[in-house]
Amino acid sequence: MFETPAEELERLFQAQHRASRAQPDVPLALRRERLLRLRTLIDDHAPVLAAAVQADFGMRSRQLTEVADLFLLRAQLASTLRQLARWSRPQKVRTPLYLQPARAWVQRQPLGVIGVISPWNYPVQLALGPAIGALAAGNRVLLKPSELTPHTSAKLADLVAQFFAPEEFCVVQGGAAVAEQLSRLPLDHLVFTGSTSVGRKVALAAADKLTPTTLELGGKSPAILDADCDLADAALKIAHGKLLNAGQTCIAPDYLFVPKGSEAAFAGAFRAAVVRLFPRFEGNPDYAAIITPRHLARLRELLQDAREQGAEVQQIEPAAATHGAPAQSLGDGIARQMPPALVFGVHDQMRLMQEEIFGPLLPVIGYETLDEVVGYINARPRPLSLYWFGNRTAVRDEVLTRTVSGGVTVNDTLLHIAHESLPFGGVGDSGWGAYHGEAGFLRFSHAKAVLVQSRWGAGALLYPPYGRRFERV
Ligand code: NAD
Repeated sequence: MFETPAEELERLFQAQHRASRAQPDVPLALRRERLLRLRTLIDDHAPVLAAAVQADFGMRSRQLTEVADLFLLRAQLASTLRQLARWSRPQKVRTPLYLQPARAWVQRQPLGVIGVISPWNYPVQLALGPAIGALAAGNRVLLKPSELTPHTSAKLADLVAQFFAPEEFCVVQGGAAVAEQLSRLPLDHLVFTGSTSVGRKVALAAADKLTPTTLELGGKSPAILDADCDLADAALKIAHGKLLNAGQTCIAPDYLFVPKGSEAAFAGAFRAAVVRLFPRFEGNPDYAAIITPRHLARLRELLQDAREQGAEVQQIEPAAATHGAPAQSLGDGIARQMPPALVFGVHDQMRLMQEEIFGPLLPVIGYETLDEVVGYINARPRPLSLYWFGNRTAVRDEVLTRTVSGGVTVNDTLLHIAHESLPFGGVGDSGWGAYHGEAGFLRFSHAKAVLVQSRWGAGALLYPPYGRRFERV
């Protein structure tokens, strides 16, 4: 894979830095025009990008990239273009009596150069998504996509260079060494999407230059079924959220709580849902491959470790899900397709319950009381997402108020990420800072406080000699 030389990365950063200092204010018209260019890049090259992702995964349908990568980007772009003028307006604030007749407002300004380091699982969405908010706010963008999706990263580099001057937006390529170099630069902000362990290294490297960061990390996102939920409906939605991209989704439900006694009924409903969504696995590109043999080996180890410690693994074998449509396109990923599995009888000593799973394995835990569920979740690192299924609003509200997670979808999975006006981000170990929509625009802007003294200004009130004016002190 091509690796951007260190001097080239430094040169690109310096060019963007200089440009951002020479033009600290980027007019609204130019910011809109950059977003329109990004939209054209995506619209005109969607098939090429989807083909690159397919080549990287060896097996992943173009439709999946269309839905999970490109559609979300288009929705974000449309919403940002629609609302950018309003977001950009200075916001007047009320001036207290003791400062009147001065006037005051908050004025948004570009931060400067924003670094973006992105992962492989949704390699277009997570690379270009942060760029939408960053460009909307008038920044320069220096992007390093994942080395595990080299076709997509090379295509992104190529297309971005066609549509943008390097001092506006450019892509560097490479692995950890290039990413480390990028995170050590004196950037004005760094958006990192990836694992919690690498996120920790990024935060440390950025701290040295006092670079503010947005960390979009992973973790174990729980799903909870309430006793009165529609089991078949919940199972379908959980199967969709868990098996999209074969579970390689940061906000996939990682493990599931079901009322004690409903485990078998859930297993039946889940099996039926899986067969409906994926009539066959092998050679079905809607059921993506695991990205590399190393990642597949890790998932198999998780299962083996759980089995050895007494868990019951119910694998949904391809044979149990037959009669599907024939394979649309076969890639080398066919050898890395892993069938889904439900795992019962899990406990904390199993790696499956310690690590983010990031694959098509779903541990199921029976529970008796909501206190038990809330206690379990609150005793562990804060999750990126949480899913609750049920109809009792009082229970729903209790879950919402008693747990802390980056986001929540009620009675479905994943969808809060697709809402163009909701901030997306984690909390605690699942990350900090949020983007998408106005949250992204604000995240990548400086909120400058402006106070304009009136020519009849009363500031003199604060000048010495104080005499008896401040006698309370
Ligand atoms: P990763 O942390 O291994 O890699 C992510 C990026 O970090 C890559 O571009 C990589 O080159 C770079 N990197 C590697 N070492 C680095 C270092 N020392 N300093 C700086 N950058 C470095 O993650 P991954 O395997 O690509 O992605 C999977 C993880 O990402 C999962 O944990 C998942 O939950 C998380 N994720 C989070 C979100 C979110 O929005 N919160 C979205 C997708 C994935």
